[in-house]
Amino acid sequence: MKAAVLYGKEELNIETDFENPVMKNSDVLIQSKYGGLCSTDRSLYRGFVPFQPPLIIGHEISGIVKEVGKSAKGLDVGDHVIIPPVYPGCEDESCSSCKEGLTNRCKKSVFIGHGVHGGDAEFIAIPSRYTFKINQSVPLDEACIIPDAVSTPFHALKSRSIPPHILRNTANPKQLFDQKSHWLHGKNIVVFGVGGVGGPTVNLAARYFKAKNVVAVDIFDNKLELAKKLGATHTINSKAFYEDKNLAIKELAGKEKAKAISELAKHISSYLTEDKFQVDCVVDCSGVPETFPLAVETTSKNRIIVQVGWPPKPVSEFLNQKIMDKYLTINGTWACPMNEMKEIVTAVENKQVDLNLLVTNKDYTLDRLENAIQDLEVGKILGRAAIAIK
Ligand SMILES: [Zn+2]
Ligand SMILES: [Zn+2]
Repeated sequence: MKAAVLYGKEELNIETDFENPVMKNSDVLIQSKYGGLCSTDRSLYRGFVPFQPPLIIGHEISGIVKEVGKSAKGLDVGDHVIIPPVYPGCEDESCSSCKEGLTNRCKKSVFIGHGVHGGDAEFIAIPSRYTFKINQSVPLDEACIIPDAVSTPFHALKSRSIPPHILRNTANPKQLFDQKSHWLHGKNIVVFGVGGVGGPTVNLAARYFKAKNVVAVDIFDNKLELAKKLGATHTINSKAFYEDKNLAIKELAGKEKAKAISELAKHISSYLTEDKFQVDCVVDCSGVPETFPLAVETTSKNRIIVQVGWPPKPVSEFLNQKIMDKYLTINGTWACPMNEMKEIVTAVENKQVDLNLLVTNKDYTLDRLENAIQDLEVGKILGRAAIAIK
């Protein structure tokens, strides 16, 4: 079969005769149609993260069921499907993480396109229980971004945004997770970094979770324009903010740097005029370590920062005192548990997510995957690119 195979750092070959996947009885064989391009693909390509070559990359896949294993359930040949990038590999979700409901953190987690072969290939075999059917009214060149770019921020907003003391002091805490009565409804949210994952975060916060204000912060005006279309009520170019004040933030240190960051944080929260300085949730999608101190400054007391973007290096200033004084909760998040995938598919089918705005590039094919990765790297891809697997 045709496949995008990584043999080592920057050694990406488009093979035409790679061996087909071997199906288990509980698997379905899927013909990949489109692959969403993620910065993780770029990290693998550049050798920033270790992997075992040869590796077929691609972990945001939409496709069509071609074959159904003997014990596979719930799917038929011809069904349109999406595959989550991370799914449980333990027996019957029996590990301690899966038992706690964290199927996204399974002890034997399978990460396609990283730990095992991915979907930037003609075919991929996946357990039927972790393959999600999607209505054929959703175009496959848009559906491919659901598995990661949409589901990761969905989980972050739905399940990682609620402060512990709120849960403890609510009579029926479960209702705070339901869309209709979700904690974020009517709240103020700040999203740092509105690229491939930040865009869906803005969109979901505004349209699905019905936040009152969604402030998008980025350093590129064209990304901020897209954020507005996706539902951001306010946009801030942080680079322009510092430049206007003649602050060379990268060269500042110590108290001067802290003062500059604090000024930007005040500027961000001042936008939320009705609830002056009340920022209920900060979602950091930037993948830039320097954003963390800004997130700490921006978040209001007793609230949460959710870390969605993966920073390439640790944060140098952890600001323990500020975190304590502000009674902040810092929540990590990772992919999306299996029991939230159906809700996402339903949201998409009900047109509560603007996939058409989020997928900004549909012109790449597998043969041009390397170009696509390079374009992503230099900021030429505004939202998400869908790679046609053909
Ligand atoms: Zn990804
Ligand atoms: Zn498990």
